[in-house]
Amino acid sequence: MNTSNDNSLTIVGAGLAGALLATLLARRGWTIDVYEKRGDPRVKGYEGGRSINLALAERGLNALRQADADGPVMAQAVMMRGRMVHFLDGQSQLQRYGRDDSEVIWSVHRGDLNITLLDLAERAGAKLHFDRRLESVDFEVRTARFRDDRTDQPHEIGFRALVGADGAGSALRAAMNRRSGLGERTEFLDHSYKELEIPPAPDGSFRIEPNALHIWPRGHYMCIALPNDEKTFTVTLFLPNEGDPSFATVKTAADARALFERDFADALPLIPQLDEDWQRNPPGTLATLYLDRWHLGGDAVLLGDAAHAMVPFHGQGMNCAFEDCVALARKLEASDDLAAAFAAFEADRKPNAAAIQQMALENYLEMRDRVDDPDFLLQRELERALQERHPGRFVPHYAMVTFMLIPYSVALERSDIQREILVRATQGLNSLEGVDWPAVDAEVLARLRPLQDAA
Ligand code: FAD
Repeated sequence: MNTSNDNSLTIVGAGLAGALLATLLARRGWTIDVYEKRGDPRVKGYEGGRSINLALAERGLNALRQADADGPVMAQAVMMRGRMVHFLDGQSQLQRYGRDDSEVIWSVHRGDLNITLLDLAERAGAKLHFDRRLESVDFEVRTARFRDDRTDQPHEIGFRALVGADGAGSALRAAMNRRSGLGERTEFLDHSYKELEIPPAPDGSFRIEPNALHIWPRGHYMCIALPNDEKTFTVTLFLPNEGDPSFATVKTAADARALFERDFADALPLIPQLDEDWQRNPPGTLATLYLDRWHLGGDAVLLGDAAHAMVPFHGQGMNCAFEDCVALARKLEASDDLAAAFAAFEADRKPNAAAIQQMALENYLEMRDRVDDPDFLLQRELERALQERHPGRFVPHYAMVTFMLIPYSVALERSDIQREILVRATQGLNSLEGVDWPAVDAEVLARLRPLQDAA
């Protein structure tokens, strides 16, 4: 337990990670101030701007439980049992994520989730300061300068240590980098995204199956749709930046309509405001952020997207950020020395962030190109069979990432081995009948130890 006299911390960013971390730390007796560039969403309404809903999985849910946030969040969450794959010919097929309804993911509203966490943070004793955009930090004299964008007034505060939960474009990261290079590298994906909406049906119900994550895979590009509690779906179109079709060729609403008529014909009638949505929402870029260092001694530390932004294709960015919050709170509790706690946090989380960043990139290919591929489907069938034959030893990749709390790095390492086994065992086959079971079983036993879940 922290016993130092000054147990204050200043968090920059009251988004998902900042608000959860503030709750966890304030409850442990820390004096927490949180500075957020936007206005209070509870007063002004949520100015999200980015994907309206998010897939919440076990890692994120586990972190929410520790702040008693799971009750209010789950009350509005929509269950997603699996991927509903929409083929070009208009047929669709549900591919379950897990074995049954105990292995599912949840669609949650970003704004509602943020508001729930802000309420909890305030109730736990954290002080929230809105309309305070971090501009610069003087680490010598330990002052941080913020600006109120409404009045253009600057505000200067003193701090003991800063925690950067200010997202992918982190201003704290830029300030830390100026003081001492963090080894920052951003790799942009050559694909971007655009958000559209499926409104409720005229009778107020969902227009398509609500308990699924819908995917229209089309090789180099795809559309997805996640359900919202208010019976809408947030649709995200992912397209390359160059080539055809791409955001270079599909520019106007008429271009978008033509693309949908050709490639997403069953989705088009579901999006009556396609033209307006297309014009209103600018395309979002997608990138992976790598840093060599996440902290400057005991002065400042980064977490969530500020430390390791990733592409969204595993639906784990927020889940990973929430795991970071729990990990940092634990390290701070275990050590009186901030520098030691920040270093232990970085050592624990950095390899795991790198692993999920890699798996998120790999999952884009799977979602857009493989979910309707016969080889892939046969491998999934074998995966399920091996899960039955070797329970607790052969655990499907998706389950390790989504339904378990084992480190991401362990999930990555085991997934690579399992993929090799699956590919080799199904090579040249079009059903499981020809599988050499004794050889496959022997390989599983030789290469995969029983898996213990982390608590
Ligand atoms: P953010 O949520 O970005 O919060 C940062 C906060 O800091 C914001 O409130 C911002 O206003 C504030 N801020 C920024 N700059 C300053 C400043 N200078 N001063 C003060 N405050 C500042 N993750 C999932 O787990 N599941 C999903 O299904 C999923 N889908 C996604 C889909 C898309 C299209 C995208 C782009 C991302 C998706 N993610 C998903 C990732 C998820 O959105 C992020 O990982 C998550 O929001 C990270 O939380 P954070 O608190 O670190 O950052």
